[in-house]
Amino acid sequence: MNVVGKTTEKGTTKEALWFHCPGCKSYHRIPVGDGHEEGRWKWNGSLEKPTISPSYNYPKVCHFFIKEGRIEFCGDCAHDLSGQTVEMEEWKEWGEGQSEGDE
Ligand SMILES: [Zn+2]
Repeated sequence: MNVVGKTTEKGTTKEALWFHCPGCKSYHRIPVGDGHEEGRWKWNGSLEKPTISPSYNYPKVCHFFIKEGRIEFCGDCAHDLSGQTVEMEEWKEWGEGQSEGDE
């Protein structure tokens, strides 16, 4: 079961991982390939049990680690799952209003 989706921007090495965040109830995008202005995150290459580092932070909204397919939310998230660790949801299709390349 995949818990993240991977996209590559056309004609670039800009790979990104996507997952549905149960805290924000929306999609998050994590840049993992080369060429991203915001830098890149380390990824273990797994779509089923992904680990990324360092943490990803949407200031004052959502701040988390992903380790072995679990999301470890830091205590400074604005949502109800702040400070909790949860299993990632199965990655299915893009949600309504969301398309490849959107932030
Ligand atoms: Zn979130």
